[in-house]
Amino acid sequence: MKVRIDLETCCGHGRCYALCPEVFAEDEEGYPVLTDTTIPPGLEARVRRAADNCPEAAIEIGSAQDAGDP
Ligand code: SF4
Repeated sequence: MKVRIDLETCCGHGRCYALCPEVFAEDEEGYPVLTDTTIPPGLEARVRRAADNCPEAAIEIGSAQDAGDP
């Protein structure tokens, strides 16, 4: 499973890195940075929770094929 953040939509509320800091880090301006675009095993539910709680719906989760990976 892959995750990406639409930084055009993100407003830096920070819920994602509060809910799943293993995948979402915080840059110096409070915007999220992915630690990895591939969701580590066992963290899918927490990443999905972060996506569900993003007020801007800026977090997209999909398969590797959705992300264009072979
Ligand atoms: S919760 Fe959504 S809007 Fe807030 S920082 Fe994370 S991606 Fe951006």
